[in-house]
Amino acid sequence: MTKLLIKKAGLLKAGPERLEVFDILISEAKIEEIGREIVAPEASVIDAQGKIVVPGLVDVHVHFREPGQEYKEDLRSGSKAAAAGGFTTVIAEPNTVPPIDTPGRLENLLKSVSQKSIVHFYSKAAITRGMMGTKLTDIAKLKEAGAKAISDDGNPVPGSRLMLNALTKAERCGILVSPHCEESASYREGILKKRGRLGQSSVLPRMPYSTHGAPYTSEEGLIRRDIESAERADARIHISHVSLAKSVEIIAEAKKRGVRVTAEATPHHLLLTERMAKEIGPNAKANPPMRSEEDMLAVRQGLAEGTIDVIASDHAPHSPDEKKRPWDQAPFGIIGLETTLGLVLTFLVRPGILTLSQAIGKMTAVPAKIFELDGVGIGSFKPGIPADLTLIDLNKKWKVDSHRFYSKGRNCPFDGWELQGKAILTMVAGQIVAKDGIVDMENRYSG
Ligand SMILES: [Zn+2]
Ligand SMILES: [Zn+2]
Repeated sequence: MTKLLIKKAGLLKAGPERLEVFDILISEAKIEEIGREIVAPEASVIDAQGKIVVPGLVDVHVHFREPGQEYKEDLRSGSKAAAAGGFTTVIAEPNTVPPIDTPGRLENLLKSVSQKSIVHFYSKAAITRGMMGTKLTDIAKLKEAGAKAISDDGNPVPGSRLMLNALTKAERCGILVSPHCEESASYREGILKKRGRLGQSSVLPRMPYSTHGAPYTSEEGLIRRDIESAERADARIHISHVSLAKSVEIIAEAKKRGVRVTAEATPHHLLLTERMAKEIGPNAKANPPMRSEEDMLAVRQGLAEGTIDVIASDHAPHSPDEKKRPWDQAPFGIIGLETTLGLVLTFLVRPGILTLSQAIGKMTAVPAKIFELDGVGIGSFKPGIPADLTLIDLNKKWKVDSHRFYSKGRNCPFDGWELQGKAILTMVAGQIVAKDGIVDMENRYSG
C-alpha cells in the first residue's frame, strides 16, 4: 500500500485553543507518525497548508432506510453523503422496514456493509419488538450481534415499567439506551385538530400506543421519566435530539446529581425556530418539531455549557415527492450529513458560541466514547490507530444546494444558505473516500 504524507496540517491542541502545524504520515491504513517536517520520499503528498485535520467525524444518529425504504436512502447513498460531509463513522437508527429488532435482522444488515458502505457503518437495534411498544427485544442477543445502542427512534417507549425493564436489562449487558423522548402523536393530532381533520384516519399515522389508553406526553415529561428510570436502574442513558429549554434544564439537574445521562442536539434544533420552519415548509418538518427562539437559544447554551454532549444530524431522508405534500401530510425528517459541519462552523463556531475544539469534540471523541467506538480508535487521532480523518478548510465559502447532494433526500431546510467551512478530504482507514466534495467509489472502504 502506498504511503500518504499530509503536509503542514493544522492540528487542534488541548488546553487553550490553538492550532499547531504538523505533518502526518499514513501507512498500511494507519497513522504512522505525527511530527514536524516528516521526510518520506516514497509517500504521495497531500498539501494541507492553511487547512486543519481532525479525527474522522462521527454521527451517532442517522437514518439510512435500509432495509425496506431504499427509495429514500440506502447504505450506498447514505454513506456517500456521510463521506462528502466529512463523516467517517455513522450509527443508523433501527426504524427500518422491518425494524432491526432481532439479531438475525441486524446480522443481515451488517453482512452487506463492507460491500455497500464507504464509511464505518454501525446500527442501533429496537427497544421493543416491531417497535410496537409492548414487548422488549432480546437486548443481550442484539448487543452480541453488534448493536451499538437500543432505541425505538420515532416513538417513545410508552410504559414506564417497560422503559425501566429496558434500562435494567441494557445496563446488565452493557448496551446504551438512546430513547426518542417526544410524543410525536400529540403533535400530529394537534395539527390535524387545528385543521378540523381529526377522524380522517387515512392521514393519521399508525399509533400503536393509543390502544393502551396512555396519555400522550411531551418531550420534557418523557425525558424526566426516562432519566428517573435510568437513575433507578443505575443505567446509562443518551437522550436523542433535545429541543426544549425545559429538557436542557432537566438534563443539567440530572447530571448534577450524578445520573449517567448524556444528550445530543441536531443542527436544525440549534438553528431553526418553529416560525422559520413554517416559512421554509415541509423540508423543515421534523420530530421533535422546531420550537420557540427561547428554546433554540437554550439548546445552544446547553451545548456550549456541556449539558448537551453531542451534535448529531438525525439525517432523515424522504423522497422529494413525499416532502412536496402539504405540511400536514408530509413525513417528518430533515437530512443533515452534507450540511452539519458547515452549519456548525458557520453559526456556532464563528460567532463564538462553541470553540472549534468543543465543536469538533462533540462530533468526534465525545460521541465515540459514549457509544463505545473509541476502543477501535474511532474519534481520536494518534499514531498506531486506523487513519480515519477529515481535512477541513475553515475559510471555504459555499452555498447549500441540495440538488448536488449524494443523499437521495432533498429535504434540506438550509438550501441557499451561505456557509463558511467545509470538509475537503475524508479518509477512512487510510483510503480517501471523498475529496473536494467528490466521492470516490473506486477507493471503497472494505474492512
Ligand atoms: Zn427521533
Ligand atoms: Zn431519528
